Amino acid sequence: MDGQAEQAKQVTIVDHPLVQHKLTLMRSKETNTATFRALAREVSMLLAYEVTRDLPLTHREIETPLETFAAPLLDGKKVVLVGILRAGIGILDGMLEILPSARVGHIGLYRDAETLEAVEYYFKLPPDIGERELIVVDPMLATANTAVAAVDRIKERGPKAIKFVCILAAPEGVKHFHDHHPDVPIFTAAVDRCLNDHGYILPGLGDAGDRLFGTR
Ligand code: URA
Repeated sequence: MDGQAEQAKQVTIVDHPLVQHKLTLMRSKETNTATFRALAREVSMLLAYEVTRDLPLTHREIETPLETFAAPLLDGKKVVLVGILRAGIGILDGMLEILPSARVGHIGLYRDAETLEAVEYYFKLPPDIGERELIVVDPMLATANTAVAAVDRIKERGPKAIKFVCILAAPEGVKHFHDHHPDVPIFTAAVDRCLNDHGYILPGLGDAGDRLFGTR
């Protein structure tokens, strides 16, 4: 497989009509903070459904009201959701509805407005991540500088496996991320056209953090 095909294989676009409809509502500048937040939660639940599709199952005997039956249950240790602060919180909330027992880590990284480089200010993961699958979440994969830096730091702790979930990605971000982390699959609702000169995704949805928290 050539590099391009390998990379393409690592990006899953969740093109379910419900996801696409909700994403369009999120993009509109007419959508207010409360609605944007609710939509981010709903889209995140649907992304959680897709990113957990290959979780391993085991079978355990249970008794239904009618008979005994070897029923499927999730196997192994609980997954770890890792939110990149601050906008990642908007995805964590929705994913925790679907994965209520997940462990949760946080990484504080912000983009320097001038250089667009990631600067770290907080890092807290659960212990024993060597036995757990990690799902790193951030709504926007734009330049991917923060995502690359977050995954660099997480890999130092030796997790079993990592996946990355965002709501929107830019082609430049996908390429940059996979140049550094080709082993980490990306799950997203859409890959947009490009980045603008300020590192914003076009057509995009604006600043996800500001729209989630009403800070602009
Ligand atoms: N971060 C955002 O919130 N929006 C973008 O378009 C790019 C990065």
